[in-house]
Amino acid sequence: MADSGKRTVSILGSTGSIGVNTVDVIRQLGGRDRFDVVAITGHSNIALLAEQAIECGARLAVTADESRYGDLKDALSGTGIEVAAGRAALTDAAARDASWVMAAIVGTAGLAPTLAAASRGADIALANKECLVSAGDLFVEAVKNGGGRLIPVDSEHSAIFQSLEDDQHHAVERIVLTASGGPFRTWSREQMAGVTAEIARAHPNWSMGLKISIGSASMFNKALEMIEARHLFDVSPEQIEVIVHPQSVIHSMVGYQDGSVLAQLGCPDMRTAIGYALTYPDRPKLAVERLDFAKLARLDFEAPDEIRFPALRLARTAMQRGGVQGAIMNAAEETAFHAFCEKRIGFLDMADIVEQVMDDLAAIPAATVMDEVFAADAEARLRATDVIGKREMAA
Ligand code: NDP
Ligand code: MG
Repeated sequence: MADSGKRTVSILGSTGSIGVNTVDVIRQLGGRDRFDVVAITGHSNIALLAEQAIECGARLAVTADESRYGDLKDALSGTGIEVAAGRAALTDAAARDASWVMAAIVGTAGLAPTLAAASRGADIALANKECLVSAGDLFVEAVKNGGGRLIPVDSEHSAIFQSLEDDQHHAVERIVLTASGGPFRTWSREQMAGVTAEIARAHPNWSMGLKISIGSASMFNKALEMIEARHLFDVSPEQIEVIVHPQSVIHSMVGYQDGSVLAQLGCPDMRTAIGYALTYPDRPKLAVERLDFAKLARLDFEAPDEIRFPALRLARTAMQRGGVQGAIMNAAEETAFHAFCEKRIGFLDMADIVEQVMDDLAAIPAATVMDEVFAADAEARLRATDVIGKREMAA
């Protein structure tokens, strides 16, 4: 199937922030001359999806939204590029034989397609942290059984991956996740109470999709990343620390039992982590901004405040309880995020709702098969919707 000598790749979520950066990295590393793009997927941005498919010479372009099939078909007519639509088509695209798959769909929608790619043994470049938060050990097991590699793309986890020394796992004492603190790092709860999604999405350092930008403001993104780190690096909850580092230059660190701390630094640009995941263990030549230490002058650190940002405390609760609490936390947070964007609830309500749903569903047993993860996810969404509705009635 593949042209000889070319790397076969697929990009799930190619029209998003990570997807666009992935296409740029592929462009920088030789584009169609070096890569055979098997499939790319998007949802609502049909114009961009079609443009990317033509530029990359993709064999298949898929929109997750069935109602946009005709638009995509029209946009790609005469190109010879195969077109498909719908959730099942996403999973079929992921199952096609690319040896490397970028998992960059936002939210739980990314879980089934990423699993399909992992199960058939593709190397997974994982941006979609929700896979690990929701499915945890089952997802790791699926990757292991498939035989491919799991390479983190989230900047913190890429940094940890790069700072872990071969054969020294036993000597790791702690994982230190850095957090920018988001736009409300210095704000009081009273100030945060009235913010809108438009204000909350303005991240000080990174340019990202809406969901993760709001998650950075509430620190729910860091909460998801704590759980992501636990599964990726097989460490205990007690070994995971969070430190606020407003400049986002140290992307994260690994502390060893001899007192050494190894870190990975760089300008806040996801293309470094994406390029590393694409060419691992090599380091590609990339046109990204270089760090200028003299200009930077200083790096600051402060302890996170779990009173103002309860998401971090909720991540610890989810890890202590184990089982499907990660899936429940993630699904409740996704539901609360949508309600916040629709102005149905306030910024601080998100954490309250997630906590209530986690407590209400604490008795759901651990999942032994993926369907039980999906069931817990669905139940958490229902419960969160119910809690949100009751709050609206009471308001
Ligand atoms: P975006 O919102 O920018 O992009 C999401 C992608 O998923 C788009 O291609 C979008 O299509 C597609 N999509 C949206 N809804 C659905 C759906 N229901 N079914 C299938 N596809 C869908 O997100 P990001 O790129 O910011 O984030 C992607 C993932 O990477 C997230 O899990 C995030 O946490 C993670 N991540 C992102 C970082 C960043 O810097 N952005 C950093 C670290 C991790 P369309 O746009 O066409 O509607
Ligand atoms: Mg991150």
